[in-house]
Amino acid sequence: MTTVLLIDDSRTSRKMLTEMLENHDFKIIGEARNGEEGYLKYKELKPDIVTMDITMPVMDGIESLSLIRHENENAKVVMITAAGQKEIMMEALKRGAADFITKPFDEAEIIATLMKVEQQE
Ligand SMILES: [Mg+2]
Repeated sequence: MTTVLLIDDSRTSRKMLTEMLENHDFKIIGEARNGEEGYLKYKELKPDIVTMDITMPVMDGIESLSLIRHENENAKVVMITAAGQKEIMMEALKRGAADFITKPFDEAEIIATLMKVEQQE
């Protein structure tokens, strides 16, 4: 089973992602409400995949992505973006994001993206 850490300050988003992913072959092993907490949980839990919101208090998703990739250069971090965030997406790619999923969430798209990321070396 592929293990996932959810990093998102929205409880609703975390709940929706948990339901969608657990309908398939993914196991949520942790949740965090900001980038700093997420980074600490990444080090502790070593998930296969991270889903990372961008706008969060304390530490945003771009900075947390950088820390996680510094910790593990092969870390698979999927960014959660909304329409109109092209510049942020470019910045995330530069910092090693594996892929993107967009809000509003589409279960089929999310599962396809995470399965693709899981297969990446
Ligand atoms: Mg947010």
